[in-house]
Amino acid sequence: MSAEVSFRADVLDVERLRERLLAFEYALRDEDALTAIGQDLRYLYWGRRMEALSGLSADRLLGHNMVDVFPSMRESGQDAQVYAALSGRAVSTTGRRFQFPQTGRTGLYEARYVPWADDHGVVVAALVVMRDLTEEHRIRFSLQETEARFRNMADHSPVMLWMSGTDGLCTFFNQTWLAFTGRSLEDELGVGWAEGVHPEDFQRCMDHYIEAFGERRMFEMEYRLQRADGEWRWILDRGTPRWTGDSEFAGYIGSCVDITDHKRLESDLRKAVRDRDDFLSIASHELRTPLTTVQLAVDTVVRALRVGQEPLDASRMVATAMRASTQAKRLALLVEELLDVSWLAAKHLVLERAPADLAGIARDVVGRVSEEAAAVGCPIDLHAPEPTPGRWDRVRIERVLVNLVSNAFKYGRGRPVRIEVRAADQGATVSVTDQGIGIAPADQARIFERFERAVSSTHYGGFGLGLWIAREIVRAHRGEIRVFSQPGEGATFEVTLPRTGSEPPAAFLARNRGEGN
Ligand code: ADP
Repeated sequence: MSAEVSFRADVLDVERLRERLLAFEYALRDEDALTAIGQDLRYLYWGRRMEALSGLSADRLLGHNMVDVFPSMRESGQDAQVYAALSGRAVSTTGRRFQFPQTGRTGLYEARYVPWADDHGVVVAALVVMRDLTEEHRIRFSLQETEARFRNMADHSPVMLWMSGTDGLCTFFNQTWLAFTGRSLEDELGVGWAEGVHPEDFQRCMDHYIEAFGERRMFEMEYRLQRADGEWRWILDRGTPRWTGDSEFAGYIGSCVDITDHKRLESDLRKAVRDRDDFLSIASHELRTPLTTVQLAVDTVVRALRVGQEPLDASRMVATAMRASTQAKRLALLVEELLDVSWLAAKHLVLERAPADLAGIARDVVGRVSEEAAAVGCPIDLHAPEPTPGRWDRVRIERVLVNLVSNAFKYGRGRPVRIEVRAADQGATVSVTDQGIGIAPADQARIFERFERAVSSTHYGGFGLGLWIAREIVRAHRGEIRVFSQPGEGATFEVTLPRTGSEPPAAFLARNRGEGN
């Protein structure tokens, strides 16, 4: 016992008290440290865990006044709890800071202050059970920090993130998700998110999720999710199981990206490949047909010449040559069309404008196609009463007219075709009207697109390019091409061209620029 301690043995047997406290300390949890302070504020007991926590030995402290040893106790008011216990009241504190200036140790603690009475029921000491919370706080703080860092990262991530717990219900959505759906976290939590999934995709997704969830494996699924503006967007969602440090399943974390544009591009590309394949098969067929006729015609003439002895049947030869010539022209037309396409595809269409008369162009075209018109039984009625001058690329405008007239022959075989040229407000208009099969309103816009056709290729040959080429040429002239038709009632294609050679619109220029034109 320390020399400074003087107690009346009949009031307080310090040795006995210490023995009992030592036993009591064993009953405490490992992290609890025990001290006892007498009514005179001197330390009666300084347990070994207290020694470990403070770095101060019992020998140094026992018998010393707590306020003398730790003046900060009074300054910070921490002595009040000791007084409370000494006066018979059990109290506790938490989250206070301890500081042992002698060793420089600091930290956080919680403590209970309990009155200790002797056999007569007189409170002789205050027991202080102190628990060091420093490590617990550090772990909790670092967890909070990790959590905050995760949320910060998640909220700034460009992908949408969600998390679910072990019951499959969603417990987290990042800001990116909430901004996308335009809904609050409360709306989305649990199974609220399902309200935004397209009804046609919902069940499939749920089945997929539940199955993967049961097997605790990664999954991937695509579904439509409604964006804040109401649009359904295709989402690719990848879910990965989460595990705790003890390898316990903790739920899922999922990341989602909007793949709508990607999907659209993919389908555009697929269509382009399909179009190209269709085009190649049509093109080879289209080019082979006239070639075969030419070949046959040549064979016929050669055979006739070889046989030789017989006098040549001149009229038969002429008819054969005519057939060959018609087919050669058709071949040339097809090749020209293909050439136009390659110019346009390479954005090389540069107009060569010069003064021209649309009525004159129409007359020339009628002259060029007269043979074909006769062959297909389509008398042409040209109505071009007045000169219609302008600055146009004559060859290209002829091309437009030839395409329209060829279509009129093809789709209105055996019926008359009327070509009308009129001076218009600021330019001129030419229209080609046939009495053929006509075009359904639903098809009238798309037939001007590349490879678009509204007829079956078994009934009518063609690349599906003529109208597209025509439209591109007309647009380059800042003009307009329109169709008026009803199925079974023929069709009128009308081209309007501005008279002047003013600059084409910016979009057209931009498209042609970059090619060094
Ligand atoms: P192609 O005639 O080689 O198929 P076009 O681009 O010239 O290609 O025409 C596209 C489609 O528009 C045709 O396949 C046809 O369905 C429709 N079409 C064009 N002109 C006419 C017309 N005069 N009458 C009826 N349909 C037409």
